[in-house]
Amino acid sequence: MQDRSSNTMGVHTQTKCYIVTDLDNTLVGNAAATQEFNRKILAWQPQVGLIYATGRSYQSAKHLQRSEDLLEPHYWITGVGSEIYYQGDLDQSWSDHLMHQWDRSRILALTKDFPEFIPQPDRSQSDFKISFFLYDNNATEILARLRDRIRAEGLDAHVVYSSREDLDILPVRCDKGLAMRHLMTRLGLTNDNTIVCGDSGNDIGLFKQNTLGVIVNNAQAELLDWHREHGQDSSGNSHQRIHYANAECAAGMLEGIQKFQPDLF
Ligand SMILES: [Mg+2]
Repeated sequence: MQDRSSNTMGVHTQTKCYIVTDLDNTLVGNAAATQEFNRKILAWQPQVGLIYATGRSYQSAKHLQRSEDLLEPHYWITGVGSEIYYQGDLDQSWSDHLMHQWDRSRILALTKDFPEFIPQPDRSQSDFKISFFLYDNNATEILARLRDRIRAEGLDAHVVYSSREDLDILPVRCDKGLAMRHLMTRLGLTNDNTIVCGDSGNDIGLFKQNTLGVIVNNAQAELLDWHREHGQDSSGNSHQRIHYANAECAAGMLEGIQKFQPDLF
């Protein structure tokens, strides 16, 4: 989706809103709904910007893009926020920002004391991301121990657990939401013209940023738990800023976008 009449960093002056979406089990999961979403996005150009925010590496996300016939977004946030790509180029300023208090080798060393952690393949590891599989009914307790251990060593990191299997240890300044905020600042986006969409634990960072949000109906327990705990006001009403969709995957996204931007439909 190249946009020749755009201003700095690709934002068109007519951009009305930006959609920031997770891929697996959010945009991807129901092929017909994904293609319907694609048609809408194309019809909405140049009013609507698109950012993918995924736990996958950039290479893996590009592979998914080809296999699922996804549009080229304006920006890619990959590796749970550890990388930002624009037109194929890594955003070096974001990488520099992540260096703060990040000591990858010491964090990696202390994870050796957690036999429950199964290293993910090399392609899922990067300078700013250490990833394991963790399948354990006591995951919450194990992760609390990990966080204590990191603090006790005088280190700092973000521990993100998704879908009861993916454990990512990231720089303290890193998650999908913080990467999105970096782009929002650059692009001049506001909380009211940004809509995030997700289904699992690594999307919580997106929802924490106080933009508008859509939780797809097929969301994982950890995101629904977070929403129950934080996404309600004092009288227990769901915040109007987060829509828990009746529909799954991309159909749920469209349902939420219609709620927040009815003029587009
Ligand atoms: Mg997902």
